[in-house]
Amino acid sequence: MSVVPLVVLHDHLDGGLRIDTILELAASIGHELPATDPDELRSWFRAGADARDILQYLATFEHTVGLLQTADALRRVATEAVVDLAADGVVYAEVRFAPELHPGVGGLSEVIDVATAGFAAGAAHAAAAGNMIDVRTIVCAMRTENRSADVARAAVAAADPTSQGGVVAFDLAGAETGFPPTDHAVACRIALDGGLALTVHASEPPGTELIAQALEVGAQRVGHGVRLIEDCRIGDDGGLELGSLAQRVLDEQVPLELCPSCNVQIGAVPTLADHPIGPFLRAGFAATVNTDNRLMSGVTVSSEVAAVRDAFDLTDDEVRRLQRNAIAAAFCDEATRSRVAAVIAD
Ligand SMILES: [Zn+2]
Repeated sequence: MSVVPLVVLHDHLDGGLRIDTILELAASIGHELPATDPDELRSWFRAGADARDILQYLATFEHTVGLLQTADALRRVATEAVVDLAADGVVYAEVRFAPELHPGVGGLSEVIDVATAGFAAGAAHAAAAGNMIDVRTIVCAMRTENRSADVARAAVAAADPTSQGGVVAFDLAGAETGFPPTDHAVACRIALDGGLALTVHASEPPGTELIAQALEVGAQRVGHGVRLIEDCRIGDDGGLELGSLAQRVLDEQVPLELCPSCNVQIGAVPTLADHPIGPFLRAGFAATVNTDNRLMSGVTVSSEVAAVRDAFDLTDDEVRRLQRNAIAAAFCDEATRSRVAAVIAD
């Protein structure tokens, strides 16, 4: 657990299941898993992430999503996710999921209702255990499919920035190469016009092009954005020389939902030490540190923050700045944001 209260903006519900819960849910419905020993199963999920192959990585989700096809299972996992985040020292979380991946639970709106109720229950359980956490929901549409406008409408109908578990934003998730955000411009417009915030995944090739397109469709934050480094050069003095897109992201303080371990695992950067999060933070970018998929990457929010701190020798103030950047970029109501910001500033 970190000494600094933590904020996470990019964490997938179907990428953060507890191993024990996976085993129990699988046993209850006769779902065949690649391993039944907890340690072996944990390694299997990790191996998918370590394969540095986005398609194999995404294949691990077939098992987690496959288990989340009843309201009870989805609600349970949503509740546990928030309890786990709070126990890890997270005081504000935005957790995301794609309702279209859970048809067994019901229609899009029904899935959203079940998951958000689970998040709210998780916040209540955590508070009862002495771990205060505010949680909000980001609804994702799969960019490889063609239901994004319907998903955006269902998300808008559930918009609620002030309540625990409330929907605050819309996102485009799934395989990115070949599925540019501009294909879903209509859905993004529906979300924005409906009062939701917008964040769009942009982590795969063509890196800078996808980031530029995310901004083009109105994204207020960029999911990952790690390949923005391709538009930067390390200068002779060790500082960053910025291309026009990187300069724009800096000038407009577009928050980057960086997920360092995941970014290494999918091959966006060779090692954590090569990740741009340290240079970005020190150059004044609105850099934030996130988990993406705690199960597949074998991380927690606190372990990820500690890994970044160690890789770049961050000072305590820099670690706190990452959290301040994150709460400044949160999509919740202003009252919640300033209350959480005060907790981080203490
Ligand atoms: Zn993600």
